[in-house]
Amino acid sequence: GFTRTLTARVAPLGARLVLALVEDRTRERRVEAVRRDFVANVSHELKTPVGAIRLLAEAVTDAADDPEAVQRFAGRMRTESDRLSKLVQQIIELSRLQGNDPLETPVMVDIDAAVATAVDTSAMEAAAKNITVDSRGEPGLEVFGSQEQIGAAISNLVANAVAYSNEGSRVVVTTRAEGAKVQISVVDQGIGIPAEDIDRIFERFYRVDPARHRSTGGTGLGLSIVKHVAATHGGDISVWSVQGQGSTFTLTLPHHAEPGPGSGQTTTPV
Ligand code: ADP
Repeated sequence: GFTRTLTARVAPLGARLVLALVEDRTRERRVEAVRRDFVANVSHELKTPVGAIRLLAEAVTDAADDPEAVQRFAGRMRTESDRLSKLVQQIIELSRLQGNDPLETPVMVDIDAAVATAVDTSAMEAAAKNITVDSRGEPGLEVFGSQEQIGAAISNLVANAVAYSNEGSRVVVTTRAEGAKVQISVVDQGIGIPAEDIDRIFERFYRVDPARHRSTGGTGLGLSIVKHVAATHGGDISVWSVQGQGSTFTLTLPHHAEPGPGSGQTTTPV
């Protein structure tokens, strides 16, 4: 009677506890595996530009009496070292995001200003390819979150739109309010993304056809940063693309990620 009921009640509890511990261990192991994977990928990705710089340094030495060749090799060294510093900067950014580093206090982020900064950041690359970058949308949109992260996310999307577009094309950034959310869309008329790659482009270091994209100096980390920023703000990132016609990336962010203690500061009626 009594003892049976008791065991029957206790056993599932114990079992649940064991299960919870097992699940915890599994998650821990998975996190550990992801981290190991990341370190392995990082080492691999860093070795490429470092190796190239080393070879180019040797080439410069060998070509000492050919000034034209020296200039050429030196130029390539600059390109490779720029790539290397971009890679290091993005790796630091990504690992900070993954560590959920609560360094920053959330603030009201002015979306117009973030878009304007992103457009400015890509202005030189756009001008070099005669690409027009326009922005339009609702003024006064705000999101409660990290200024730095949201800025980085929008900048990455605009930089990609420019990098993967042909000469003379157009990039448009649109912002709008969607209920309690803000949508930022970056539309390009660029090379587009093959259907078989579209699910993978948000993975770290994933690049469609890396050989062809070598000249863009891409790291394959930009979109993983965007994805993390979306996640830490309780939003999401989606993509629509037709190969050869263009892509649209839409970043959706709630005005407020959570109605925590800061919810009294709401400035936007929802
Ligand atoms: P990368 O530094 O190589 O641009 P990302 O993580 O930002 O890395 O993007 C991953 C890959 O997705 C890119 O290498 C490119 O193949 C593809 N991609 C991203 N944005 C676009 C776009 N707007 N148009 C076409 N392809 C894109």
